[in-house]
Amino acid sequence: MNYEKLAEVDKKHIWHPFTQMSQWARSEELIIESGNGIYLTDVNGKKYIDGISSLWVNVFGHRKKEIDDAIKSQIDKISHSTMLGQSSVPVIELAEELTTILPEELSKYFFSDDGSTACEAALKICYQFHRQKKVPEPQRKIFVKFSGGYHGDTIGSVSVGGIELFHNIYSELLFDTITVHYPYCYRCPHHKRQDTCGMYCLRRARDIISRNCKNIAGLIVEPLVQGAAGMIMMPEGFLSGIRDITKKCDIPMIADEVATGFGRTGKLFACQHENVVPDIMVLAKGITGGYLPFAVTAVNKTIYNGFLGRPEENKTFFHGHTYTGNQLASIAARETIRLIKRENIIEKMESKVAFLEDSLKKFYGLAHVGDIRQKGFMIGIELVKDKKGKIPYPPESRVAVKTILKAREKGLILRPLGDVIVLMPPLVSSKEELKKILEITYVSIKDVTE
Ligand code: PMP
Repeated sequence: MNYEKLAEVDKKHIWHPFTQMSQWARSEELIIESGNGIYLTDVNGKKYIDGISSLWVNVFGHRKKEIDDAIKSQIDKISHSTMLGQSSVPVIELAEELTTILPEELSKYFFSDDGSTACEAALKICYQFHRQKKVPEPQRKIFVKFSGGYHGDTIGSVSVGGIELFHNIYSELLFDTITVHYPYCYRCPHHKRQDTCGMYCLRRARDIISRNCKNIAGLIVEPLVQGAAGMIMMPEGFLSGIRDITKKCDIPMIADEVATGFGRTGKLFACQHENVVPDIMVLAKGITGGYLPFAVTAVNKTIYNGFLGRPEENKTFFHGHTYTGNQLASIAARETIRLIKRENIIEKMESKVAFLEDSLKKFYGLAHVGDIRQKGFMIGIELVKDKKGKIPYPPESRVAVKTILKAREKGLILRPLGDVIVLMPPLVSSKEELKKILEITYVSIKDVTE
């Protein structure tokens, strides 16, 4: 099919995610045909930098030989067999690799297909766990979530989400939660100033959680960085403070590392920045290097042991997806972990992270850049109509959308989140490539907003 035909069929039949399809019908479509390194090429032969790692998943660039080879050789053996009542070589090899990178407390791995399903499993595990304790705690029904949180699109994950635009319409379908404010220091929900507040938000969180201690089934949090909310970043000490509260209250803490895991924040996992070991860690996205859908819900032994018993006691976790532990995805994940270690990906990021930090300062010179947030290779640039008053643009102005379209013209693929321009390049991007990404972003913001 040529470009026109592909675009015609797409417009006629495909319902794109998070996309207002009435706009799509009139838009110029970008149809990707191939990729190599940090570049994507469309069907018309135009080359783009993949500035968002194909939605925050790509680690080594596209067509990484070792992952390609691992998948190809696995195809020659078998592509999928079930995990129900049997196991497979790739999944066992992957489990062994996971033990080398995860905190040793998190030694039991439940596999699923994506971030949403892995969070969903974590929530159900917490809920069931309390009901199967020696002294059951059936009153633990409520989950603590954070404002602006995003954990996926299944109903359980939406229940613990906090993005009004995505989640409000389903409110009657969702289970009960308690919301704690995520620290969004640029627009503090408590109207405090970061330099003088002494982490007031943490004290408030402690009060709210302690008051409901015995009724809480679990707490779910995006450690250090809230991605979908617009790259909102915790001040130092907030995450470990939250961990202390959950320990005191005996509340299982779920760290959703779907976006932050596998090096994105400059450490393998965001929790490591504050030496936090949660009770459950959720991993997806980068786990297969950005190749295939796959996820892990890693739990500690205390929780795992709560599910052990005689079959007739029904303590079993009756949960599992058809493609759980898929062999192609498992082999891609195994290879990803080996490569991260072998190629010292995290160590090599250090000087590049510093380079980004330094180069981003220039963006404050732009008239409509209100805030710049960065942790490792996760960057959010918040555009504002009025810098002094931090006044946002009216939604219909769609400045961020216009900015990313401008960047696309110049050969860089980005995505907006509200008024925030997100940069999330593959972890292997070189300084030269990062420089190019920043240059195009800078000029695109300037062109659109000034
Ligand atoms: N949790 C977080 C923190 C995420 O950023 C996302 C996706 N952006 C999800 C969960 C859901 O993952 P998926 O889209 O793979 O279901």
